[in-house]
Amino acid sequence: MDQQGRLPAVMLPRGLPVPSSSLSAPRPSTNHRVHLFRTSVGLVQYIYVGDSINNGRNVLQRVEDMSVDTRIQSFGPYNIVCAGCNKSLDTRSRPGIYQDKAGSWASHYCSVLREWEDPSSPHKPTPEMAAGFARLRAESRDEALADLVEQKQIERVYY
Ligand SMILES: [Zn+2]
Repeated sequence: MDQQGRLPAVMLPRGLPVPSSSLSAPRPSTNHRVHLFRTSVGLVQYIYVGDSINNGRNVLQRVEDMSVDTRIQSFGPYNIVCAGCNKSLDTRSRPGIYQDKAGSWASHYCSVLREWEDPSSPHKPTPEMAAGFARLRAESRDEALADLVEQKQIERVYY
């Protein structure tokens, strides 16, 4: 499959990757334990093997959500860097790592993000900025996946 030279991420506002018409990429799995990631080495699949959760998203789902959240510039186990204002915000108010609806990030009021999300505002991130954020998020995601493998929360699936 041809992935050479492709821009890694053209993201819709809702965070879904835009499918390339020429590439028959597998559809996202409906099984919340199994996730497929497009990485620099091709498609890689991970399965969540951590403690079962009653509701909400497991850490693999949260990492995946953060990796396509255009408000996020980069993230770590306990912080999110805002794409709008470049501030690092703590996400430690909930148990567990890689929380994206917690801490000062969850209550972050960002005038820059507000402008970006306002359809009538002329202030938007440039395509170069958006591509840069997408690249940083992909790096954060890859570090998170490696971290979670090490912590035995997820396992990489080899074909
Ligand atoms: Zn901000």
